[in-house]
Amino acid sequence: MSRIAPETLAAHGGSGVTEPYRDIVQPIHLATTFERAEDGSYPGGRVYSRDQSPAYDCSEKLLAELEGGAQALLFASGMAAATAVLQALKPGDRILAPRSTYWAWRNWLRDFTTQWGIELALYANSDLADLERQLNAAPTQLLWIETPANPTWEITDIAAAAALAKAAGAKVVVDSTVATPVFTRPIELGADIVLHSATKYLNGHSDVVAGALITRATDDFWLRIRKARNLGGAVLGPFEAWLLQRGLRTLFLRVRTAAANAEKVALFLAGHPAVVEVLYPGLPGNPGYAVAAQQMQGGFGAMLSVRIAGGESGSRAVAGKLKLFRQATSLGAVESLVEHRASVEGAGTLVPDDLLRLSIGIESAEDLIADWQQALA
Ligand code: PLP
Repeated sequence: MSRIAPETLAAHGGSGVTEPYRDIVQPIHLATTFERAEDGSYPGGRVYSRDQSPAYDCSEKLLAELEGGAQALLFASGMAAATAVLQALKPGDRILAPRSTYWAWRNWLRDFTTQWGIELALYANSDLADLERQLNAAPTQLLWIETPANPTWEITDIAAAAALAKAAGAKVVVDSTVATPVFTRPIELGADIVLHSATKYLNGHSDVVAGALITRATDDFWLRIRKARNLGGAVLGPFEAWLLQRGLRTLFLRVRTAAANAEKVALFLAGHPAVVEVLYPGLPGNPGYAVAAQQMQGGFGAMLSVRIAGGESGSRAVAGKLKLFRQATSLGAVESLVEHRASVEGAGTLVPDDLLRLSIGIESAEDLIADWQQALA
C-alpha cells in the first residue's frame, strides 16, 4: 500500500486492535506498576507508569507520525512540555524567544530563566534581521518560535529562522499549537522539536489539559527532555490520555472546519465600521500573509483577534453581548470563545486594551457572523 495519509492515521487514533477481544477502541490503561517475571525481567516492557504508561502509546505514535518526527512525549500540560525543554538546557545556556508569545510562557521565561542561570533574549517575531542579530550577539543554544503567535497571530518564517539557527548552532523549538499538524509540519521546515498545548486543537473539546513534544531525532537533548519528564513526573493521567486519543481521531475535520469559519468571520469583521483592526494571518493585508500562505498548507488556523472601537469599555461591552461565543479563556475547541485578553493577562500585558481574542469553533459560520452582527449593532 502507498504511504497512508495523515487523515487516515488520525482517524485510526494511532492504534491497531488489541487482544484478546480485538477492541476497535483502545482500553484505558490504569495500571501504575507492572509485574516482573521469575528471572526479574519485565516481559511487558514496562516498570512504572511515570516512566512510560501504555496509556500514551497510541497518541505518542500518532503524533510522531503526523509531525514526521522520530518520537513524541505526552505531558501533563502544554506548560509542562515547554518547561521540560528548558530543563534540558544547562546553566550558562542562552535562549532566544519571541517578543509576542503565549503570556504564561513569557512570564515563566521572565521569572525562571535567570534563577536557573539561563540567559534570555527576545526577538521581534516576524523580523528575520532582528532574529539573526540576536542569534549572533552571543552563543545561543535554543531558538524558540511560536507561529502563529498568541494573541497577535504574528507569523515567523520557520524555514528561514531554522536555517539561521542552524548556522548559529542553536536548536529550534516550534510551538505549533495554533497551526497544528493539519496546516504546518515544522520538522520538515527545519525544526528540531515541535510543541503542542494538546489542551487546544489536538484534544479539541475543552475537557483535557495536556501537552506534547515531538522530536526530529532521539539525540542527547531529547534524552534529557525524556529524563525531565520521567524524573520530574509531569505526566498525564490515563483517562486524559484516552480522551486525547479520542479527540485526535477527528483532528483534521475539526481544524479544517474551524479554519474555514475563521476566514469567513475575519472577512466579515474586517469590513465592519465598528472594528479598528482584525489580526488574522489569512487576510491578504496582514503582514504575515505571504509567509503564512507558503508555510501553512490548506488554511491559516482558526484563531484571530479583533480590536473594537471605543477602547476597553467598547470591546468588553461587545464581548458581553455575544450569545453564541462564550466568554472564556483557552482556545482550539469545537465551540467558539471570546476573551478580553488584556484583563486576563493583567499588569504588564503587551496586548492592547481594545483587543478581543476569538477562538473559532465548528458551528455554522452564518450563525457566528450573525452573532457578531447583533453584538456590534
Ligand atoms: N502554547 C500556546 C500557544 C498556548 O496558547 C498555551 C495555552 O494557552 C500553551 C502553550 C500552554 O498550554 P497549557 O495551557 O496546556 O499548559
